[in-house]
Amino acid sequence: MLKEKLRKNLDEVIWNIEEARISVSEHHIVKLVAVGKYSDEESIKTLYKLGQRAFGENQVQQLESRMQSLEELPLEWHMMGRLQSNKINKLIELRPTLFQSLDSLKLAQALNQRLEARNQTMSCLLQINSANEESKAGVGVYEAEDIYAQIIESYPQLRLKGVMSIGTHTQDKKEIQKSFELTHKIYDNLKKYNATICSMGMSSDYQLAIQCGSNLVRIGSTIFK
Ligand SMILES: *Cc1c(COP(=O)(O)O)cnc(C)c1O
Repeated sequence: MLKEKLRKNLDEVIWNIEEARISVSEHHIVKLVAVGKYSDEESIKTLYKLGQRAFGENQVQQLESRMQSLEELPLEWHMMGRLQSNKINKLIELRPTLFQSLDSLKLAQALNQRLEARNQTMSCLLQINSANEESKAGVGVYEAEDIYAQIIESYPQLRLKGVMSIGTHTQDKKEIQKSFELTHKIYDNLKKYNATICSMGMSSDYQLAIQCGSNLVRIGSTIFK
Protein backbone atom coordinates (compact mmCIF):
# COMPACT_ATOMS: atom_id res chain seq x y z
CA MET A 1 0.00 0.00 0.00
CA LEU A 2 2.59 2.53 1.14
CA LYS A 3 4.93 1.45 -1.62
CA GLU A 4 2.25 1.74 -4.32
CA LYS A 5 1.23 5.18 -3.12
CA LEU A 6 4.80 6.45 -3.00
CA ARG A 7 5.60 4.90 -6.36
CA LYS A 8 2.68 6.71 -7.94
CA ASN A 9 3.59 10.05 -6.36
CA LEU A 10 7.28 9.75 -7.20
CA ASP A 11 6.58 8.70 -10.79
CA GLU A 12 4.32 11.69 -11.24
CA VAL A 13 6.89 14.12 -9.85
CA ILE A 14 9.70 12.63 -11.95
CA TRP A 15 7.51 12.83 -15.04
CA ASN A 16 6.70 16.49 -14.36
CA ILE A 17 10.35 17.31 -13.74
CA GLU A 18 11.24 15.58 -17.00
CA GLU A 19 8.66 17.54 -18.94
CA ALA A 20 9.76 20.87 -17.45
CA ARG A 21 13.48 20.30 -17.87
CA ILE A 22 13.15 19.15 -21.51
CA SER A 23 11.29 22.38 -22.23
CA VAL A 24 14.44 24.20 -21.15
CA SER A 25 16.96 21.92 -22.83
CA GLU A 26 17.75 18.22 -23.22
CA HIS A 27 20.97 19.02 -21.38
CA HIS A 28 19.30 20.71 -18.43
CA ILE A 29 19.67 18.14 -15.64
CA VAL A 30 17.59 18.57 -12.49
CA LYS A 31 18.20 16.92 -9.14
CA LEU A 32 15.31 15.89 -6.91
CA VAL A 33 15.68 16.16 -3.14
CA ALA A 34 12.77 14.52 -1.30
CA VAL A 35 11.92 16.51 1.82
CA GLY A 36 10.76 14.11 4.50
CA LYS A 37 9.83 16.53 7.26
CA TYR A 38 6.10 15.65 7.19
CA SER A 39 6.80 11.98 6.85
CA ASP A 40 8.43 9.02 8.60
CA GLU A 41 11.45 6.75 8.28
CA GLU A 42 9.43 3.91 6.81
CA SER A 43 8.42 6.14 3.90
CA ILE A 44 11.99 7.29 3.35
CA LYS A 45 13.16 3.69 3.30
CA THR A 46 10.45 2.82 0.81
CA LEU A 47 11.39 5.72 -1.44
CA TYR A 48 14.98 4.53 -1.32
CA LYS A 49 13.82 1.14 -2.59
CA LEU A 50 12.05 2.98 -5.42
CA GLY A 51 15.34 4.63 -6.41
CA GLN A 52 15.37 7.96 -4.56
CA ARG A 53 18.75 8.78 -2.97
CA ALA A 54 18.72 12.44 -1.87
CA PHE A 55 16.67 13.50 1.14
CA GLY A 56 16.21 16.76 3.00
CA GLU A 57 15.19 17.84 6.48
CA ASN A 58 14.59 21.22 8.08
CA GLN A 59 15.34 20.34 11.68
CA VAL A 60 18.73 19.27 12.93
CA GLN A 61 17.25 16.95 15.53
CA GLN A 62 15.13 15.10 13.00
CA LEU A 63 18.05 15.01 10.58
CA GLU A 64 20.17 13.40 13.25
CA SER A 65 17.72 10.68 14.21
CA ARG A 66 17.02 9.79 10.57
CA MET A 67 20.66 9.75 9.56
CA GLN A 68 21.35 7.45 12.46
CA SER A 69 18.52 5.02 11.98
CA LEU A 70 18.95 4.85 8.18
CA GLU A 71 22.72 4.74 8.43
CA GLU A 72 23.04 1.48 6.49
CA LEU A 73 21.47 3.04 3.37
CA PRO A 74 23.70 5.03 0.94
CA LEU A 75 21.63 8.22 1.18
CA GLU A 76 22.52 11.85 0.59
CA TRP A 77 21.27 14.23 3.30
CA HIS A 78 20.46 17.91 2.78
CA MET A 79 19.72 20.36 5.56
CA MET A 80 17.43 23.27 4.72
CA GLY A 81 15.64 25.84 6.81
CA ARG A 82 16.72 28.17 9.55
CA LEU A 83 19.66 26.95 11.59
CA GLN A 84 19.54 27.99 15.25
CA SER A 85 22.96 28.88 16.58
CA ASN A 86 22.72 26.29 19.34
CA LYS A 87 22.43 23.60 16.63
CA ILE A 88 25.56 24.54 14.70
CA ASN A 89 27.85 22.03 16.40
CA LYS A 90 25.40 19.21 15.92
CA LEU A 91 25.01 19.97 12.23
CA ILE A 92 28.77 20.00 11.75
CA GLU A 93 29.00 16.66 13.49
CA LEU A 94 26.41 15.18 11.12
CA ARG A 95 28.35 16.19 7.99
CA PRO A 96 25.36 16.73 5.69
CA THR A 97 25.94 16.49 1.95
CA LEU A 98 24.72 20.06 1.51
CA PHE A 99 23.54 22.79 3.86
CA GLN A 100 21.12 24.78 1.72
CA SER A 101 20.24 27.63 4.06
CA LEU A 102 23.30 29.74 4.71
CA ASP A 103 21.34 32.96 5.18
CA SER A 104 23.66 35.58 6.66
CA LEU A 105 27.28 36.63 7.06
CA LYS A 106 26.88 36.18 10.78
CA LEU A 107 25.96 32.53 10.37
CA ALA A 108 28.80 32.08 7.86
CA GLN A 109 31.26 33.39 10.39
CA ALA A 110 29.96 31.20 13.21
CA LEU A 111 29.96 28.08 11.03
CA ASN A 112 33.42 28.79 9.66
CA GLN A 113 34.89 29.27 13.10
CA ARG A 114 33.57 25.98 14.42
CA LEU A 115 34.43 24.07 11.24
CA GLU A 116 37.95 25.39 11.46
CA ALA A 117 38.31 24.17 15.02
CA ARG A 118 37.44 20.68 13.80
CA ASN A 119 39.45 20.94 10.62
CA GLN A 120 36.31 20.30 8.57
CA THR A 121 34.56 21.89 5.60
CA MET A 122 30.88 22.12 4.68
CA SER A 123 29.23 22.49 1.28
CA CYS A 124 26.62 25.26 1.40
CA LEU A 125 24.17 27.25 -0.67
CA LEU A 126 23.59 30.94 -0.03
CA GLN A 127 19.89 31.46 0.63
CA ILE A 128 18.44 34.48 -1.15
CA ASN A 129 15.24 36.19 -0.09
CA SER A 130 14.21 36.92 -3.66
CA ALA A 131 10.55 37.24 -2.70
CA ASN A 132 11.64 40.07 -0.43
CA GLU A 133 9.29 38.81 2.28
CA GLU A 134 9.98 39.69 5.88
CA SER A 135 8.92 36.25 7.04
CA LYS A 136 11.60 34.62 4.89
CA ALA A 137 15.24 34.11 5.68
CA GLY A 138 18.04 34.89 3.28
CA VAL A 139 20.19 37.69 2.03
CA GLY A 140 18.73 40.49 -0.09
CA VAL A 141 18.81 40.35 -3.88
CA TYR A 142 21.01 43.42 -4.20
CA GLU A 143 23.62 42.29 -1.69
CA ALA A 144 23.71 38.60 -2.64
CA GLU A 145 26.67 38.76 -5.02
CA ASP A 146 28.80 40.81 -2.64
CA ILE A 147 28.03 38.52 0.26
CA TYR A 148 28.80 35.44 -1.83
CA ALA A 149 32.20 36.87 -2.75
CA GLN A 150 32.86 37.90 0.83
CA ILE A 151 32.14 34.40 2.14
CA ILE A 152 34.52 32.87 -0.39
CA GLU A 153 37.15 35.39 0.60
CA SER A 154 36.78 35.24 4.38
CA TYR A 155 35.38 31.84 5.30
CA PRO A 156 37.44 29.11 3.64
CA GLN A 157 35.85 26.21 5.53
CA LEU A 158 32.58 26.94 3.72
CA ARG A 159 32.38 25.52 0.20
CA LEU A 160 29.79 27.61 -1.60
CA LYS A 161 28.11 25.65 -4.41
CA GLY A 162 25.42 28.10 -5.47
CA VAL A 163 22.13 29.57 -4.29
CA MET A 164 18.82 28.54 -2.78
CA SER A 165 15.54 30.40 -2.73
CA ILE A 166 11.91 29.92 -1.76
CA GLY A 167 9.37 31.29 -4.25
CA THR A 168 7.03 34.12 -3.31
CA HIS A 169 4.15 32.95 -1.16
CA THR A 170 1.22 33.86 -3.40
CA GLN A 171 -1.20 32.38 -5.93
CA ASP A 172 0.02 34.89 -8.50
CA LYS A 173 2.18 32.90 -10.89
CA LYS A 174 3.76 36.06 -12.31
CA GLU A 175 5.01 37.07 -8.88
CA ILE A 176 6.45 33.64 -8.16
CA GLN A 177 8.12 33.60 -11.56
CA LYS A 178 9.66 37.00 -10.89
CA SER A 179 11.27 35.78 -7.69
CA PHE A 180 12.68 32.70 -9.46
CA GLU A 181 14.04 34.81 -12.30
CA LEU A 182 15.77 37.13 -9.85
CA THR A 183 17.45 34.20 -8.12
CA HIS A 184 18.47 32.63 -11.41
CA LYS A 185 20.03 35.86 -12.61
CA ILE A 186 22.15 36.03 -9.47
CA TYR A 187 23.12 32.39 -9.97
CA ASP A 188 24.25 33.18 -13.51
CA ASN A 189 26.45 35.98 -12.22
CA LEU A 190 27.97 33.64 -9.63
CA LYS A 191 29.12 31.09 -12.19
CA LYS A 192 32.43 32.94 -12.26
CA TYR A 193 32.90 31.64 -8.72
CA ASN A 194 32.07 28.10 -9.89
CA ALA A 195 28.48 28.10 -8.63
CA THR A 196 26.78 24.97 -9.99
CA ILE A 197 23.56 24.65 -7.99
CA CYS A 198 20.42 26.76 -8.30
CA SER A 199 17.98 25.30 -5.76
CA MET A 200 14.42 26.55 -6.35
CA GLY A 201 11.03 24.90 -6.44
CA MET A 202 8.81 23.06 -3.96
CA SER A 203 5.60 21.04 -4.34
CA SER A 204 3.49 23.95 -5.50
CA ASP A 205 5.89 25.56 -7.94
CA TYR A 206 8.68 23.21 -9.06
CA GLN A 207 7.73 23.07 -12.75
CA LEU A 208 7.78 26.85 -12.94
CA ALA A 209 11.08 26.93 -11.02
CA ILE A 210 12.68 24.53 -13.51
CA GLN A 211 11.45 26.61 -16.42
CA CYS A 212 13.20 29.55 -14.76
CA GLY A 213 16.46 27.58 -14.59
CA SER A 214 16.38 25.68 -11.31
CA ASN A 215 18.55 22.56 -11.31
CA LEU A 216 17.60 21.29 -7.83
CA VAL A 217 14.04 20.96 -6.56
CA ARG A 218 13.06 20.27 -2.94
CA ILE A 219 9.77 18.40 -2.83
CA GLY A 220 7.95 17.20 0.26
CA SER A 221 4.16 17.07 0.45
CA THR A 222 3.52 16.04 -3.17
CA ILE A 223 5.68 12.95 -2.74
CA PHE A 224 4.76 11.91 0.79
CA LYS A 225 1.09 12.92 0.95
C1 LIG B 1 9.41 21.87 3.62
C2 LIG B 1 10.34 22.47 2.70
C3 LIG B 1 10.33 22.12 1.34
C4 LIG B 1 9.31 21.16 0.74
O1 LIG B 1 8.06 21.73 0.80
P1 LIG B 1 6.76 21.08 0.10
O2 LIG B 1 5.89 22.24 -0.18
O3 LIG B 1 6.18 20.14 1.09
O4 LIG B 1 7.21 20.41 -1.14
C5 LIG B 1 11.28 22.71 0.52
N1 LIG B 1 12.18 23.60 0.98
C6 LIG B 1 12.23 23.95 2.28
C7 LIG B 1 13.24 24.94 2.73
C8 LIG B 1 11.31 23.41 3.17
O5 LIG B 1 11.35 23.78 4.46
